[in-house]
Amino acid sequence: MGESGEHRPPAGQTDPRRAGRESAAASGSRPRRRGFVRGDDMTTTVRTRVAIIGAGPAGLLLSHLLAADGIESIVIDARTREQIETTIRAGILEQGTVELLVDSGASDRVTAAGAKHEGIELRFEGEGHRIDFSDLVGRAVWLYPQHEVLTDLVAARLAGGQDLRLGVTAQRVEDAASARPRVIAADASGRPLVIEADFVVGADGSRSVARAAVTGSSTGGYFREYPFAWFGILCEAPPSADELIYSSSPDGFALISQRSDTVQRMYFQCDPDDDPGRYSEEQLWEELQKRVPGTTLRQGRIFQRDILRFRSFVAHRLLRGRVALIGDAAHTVPPTGAKGMNLAVADVLVLTRALRAPPAGRRRTPHRRLSRDGAAPHLKAQHFSWWMTSMLHTAPGASDFDHRRRVGELRSVVESRAGSTYLAEAYTGWPFASAG
Ligand SMILES: Cc1cc2nc3c(=O)[nH]c(=O)nc-3n(C[C@H](O)[C@H](O)[C@H](O)COP(=O)(O)OP(=O)(O)OC[C@H]3O[C@@H](n4cnc5c(N)ncnc54)[C@H](O)[C@@H]3O)c2cc1C
Repeated sequence: MGESGEHRPPAGQTDPRRAGRESAAASGSRPRRRGFVRGDDMTTTVRTRVAIIGAGPAGLLLSHLLAADGIESIVIDARTREQIETTIRAGILEQGTVELLVDSGASDRVTAAGAKHEGIELRFEGEGHRIDFSDLVGRAVWLYPQHEVLTDLVAARLAGGQDLRLGVTAQRVEDAASARPRVIAADASGRPLVIEADFVVGADGSRSVARAAVTGSSTGGYFREYPFAWFGILCEAPPSADELIYSSSPDGFALISQRSDTVQRMYFQCDPDDDPGRYSEEQLWEELQKRVPGTTLRQGRIFQRDILRFRSFVAHRLLRGRVALIGDAAHTVPPTGAKGMNLAVADVLVLTRALRAPPAGRRRTPHRRLSRDGAAPHLKAQHFSWWMTSMLHTAPGASDFDHRRRVGELRSVVESRAGSTYLAEAYTGWPFASAG
């Protein structure tokens, strides 16, 4: 997703548990400096096996899994630890993502503090229809905010002695096709840093600078922009429903989702060029309420509002020489299917397996494995995200036929076990075993 959808809780919303850890990390935590090669007054050059640009879910989890395999890495990120740990984005974790976080030791809070959801509701023509994940596919999702996942991952990486350099911005990746690609970067004060590596990973999100080294340009990929967006709010209120409600109404789409017992996340369909400041709080509640007939929303102070544009993007290629793209750098999806962070996790698993030392006699480069496995999960997720988006939203200029056809599509899902099962299977996530 683009940065436009990012937002942080206001001062005072920060988790107090973090306070004691801030000072150690605010300017970049480097418990151990390994792989130092040379430096002069101007440029520091370091060497590592895997250079990772981006300390989002993709970059941090990759470094965590590589370390478990004994593979050293350096992770850089332009943001501070506080920004990483407080920016509110994704909230839904697939079952496979949760299992991987727990089994790899990255998070033990996810199942304790996260909320297990065994279904969602699709609402249209004034009626709610529950898609029962447990019954249909025996799987579930967890509501556990992305910034909490990142908090857990940063803590785990620092405890593991990870070379994690925050406030360091990559400018470009050079010599992708050579045996020694490198990242050209600078720290917050502008001091140049060069990271030479056996392999470079662009985990630097939708505005990736690594993408140019792989695809030839920063925008190289297949792209689709949607004619509508989500107006998102965060509010201080109790939950209005136990599970997520995806509501398609004559006034447009709304998603009622939860964050905790006291903070809720809700979205309604809007024009991508809408001005977030033009609505009063009362108008925002009116817009939301009229799209969710049958549920009286529990209101409270709105403390964040933003417009989230919808894009589908797949990079022309995911790998060139010794540089790979993962997560949002490789592909972005509209948020309706709650897939973005989970896809980043699926990519990490494929890449980790590819970067592991191969059995004797096999090629050392990860190309074969990546080209075989890398595309499968994200293409299915691209389709699912597009499908959920198209089925649930009212496109500007849609005809009465278009509207009736969408109702027919929704009925085909909720009135058929086969239709409901596809939604449940895709939403809870295809088992990672299929990814390699
Ligand atoms: C409002 C919203 C709701 C969402 N809801 C969901 C959901 O429910 N479920 C879901 O699965 N997904 C969801 N997503 C998508 C999800 O947040 C992303 O797919 C996910 O963050 C991708 O992880 P990533 O690690 O690939 O990229 P990012 O999280 O974007 O991380 C990239 C990192 O790279 C750093 N970086 C960028 N450029 C540079 C540079 N030049 N040098 C150094 N560092 C750099 C950035 O600072 C950032 O920390 C949502 C997104 C938004 C915006």
